[in-house]
Amino acid sequence: LLMAMEYGRQDKVLVSIRIRPSDSPNAWDTPEAHPKTIKLQPQYHRNSGTAPPEFHFDEILTGSENKPVYNAVARSHVWAAMDGYNSVIFAYGQTASGKTFTLSGDEDQPGIIPRAMKDIFRYIRRTPSREYLLRCSYLEIYNETIHDLLAPPSFSALQPVQIQGTGANIWLSPLREEVVTSLKGVHEVLERGWGNRRTASTDWNERSSRSHSVFRVVIESRERSEEGASGRQTPSLGIRPPTPGGTKLQAIGGRSVQTSVLSLIDLAGSEKATSDKERTREGKYINTSLLTLGTVISTLAENSAKNKSDHVPFRNSKLTRMLQPSLSGNARISVICTLNPDTSAVAESNSTLLFAQRIK
Ligand code: ADP
Ligand code: MG
Repeated sequence: LLMAMEYGRQDKVLVSIRIRPSDSPNAWDTPEAHPKTIKLQPQYHRNSGTAPPEFHFDEILTGSENKPVYNAVARSHVWAAMDGYNSVIFAYGQTASGKTFTLSGDEDQPGIIPRAMKDIFRYIRRTPSREYLLRCSYLEIYNETIHDLLAPPSFSALQPVQIQGTGANIWLSPLREEVVTSLKGVHEVLERGWGNRRTASTDWNERSSRSHSVFRVVIESRERSEEGASGRQTPSLGIRPPTPGGTKLQAIGGRSVQTSVLSLIDLAGSEKATSDKERTREGKYINTSLLTLGTVISTLAENSAKNKSDHVPFRNSKLTRMLQPSLSGNARISVICTLNPDTSAVAESNSTLLFAQRIK
């Protein structure tokens, strides 16, 4: 009940800004009296005859600590996923603004993905009345092709992941889903994904900034049976071990299965194409998919707030199409827009803020 009260019903997309620390001059102000407001310092405002616009968001986060970021903009979404709501957390921003630091982090400052997984296992330990099955997958969308990062690169290059089915009833195939029963298992899955991603790319930096990466956890649960409660299942965690050929939780007796998906997404860099090559092929795809993402999220929020049913263009990009079941319905969405505060990045930061404002 307490948790339910904390995240309540959410029609609104949670939109936050995270400003990366920097040694260079900072172009942005967050007034102390209005900590959820951000504006450009007047001397960097191009139209000097007018005051720089103020932007307001749900959270504006600064500093190098990942824990407060997780608590402010991710934790309630992870809990909601444990309670059966599909939840999606995005990091959006130009390359080097802190998307990967925010989502993955490093050893000193674990990001949202490891913190979410830790919370999920904690939640399971504290919910002995239910048993859970967790399946992780890890994908990359590059040039509108979906690659399974858990498959060997040679395989996923030949066999891109296809979106099958219709409407909100779609699935991905072929896709590896690894059952995880511990944080250690999760780390192995993440390591494998990262390794394959590196192997698959001839130019790692280029590719990682031009592609979206999607880490997904399918969470299935059902009420624990009498035998289960007496300890025949996996110790204390209440997670069923993988069974050969059957990694889907089955409804037994009256115990129906609750399924939800948590998706954690490190988006491609939002910067404008800088070379001819990018402008032609990759840049076009990236701009289309980020633009579509903005339109999809803002239309969903608008439909929900005003009880409308405007067309949502999920099909305009692989990313939104793939996420359709997770984004429609009673989904919980958090978008963290990362900002490079340097004076040299003002133009890109401005377009990040405009994107953020558009989906709010
Ligand atoms: P992106 O994924 O958006 O391209 P990164 O997350 O790789 O950007 O960040 C670029 C660099 O800045 C990395 O070296 C990263 O460790 C550092 N960095 C980003 N955000 C922060 C932060 N909030 N605090 C400290 N270092 C950061
Ligand atoms: Mg990155």
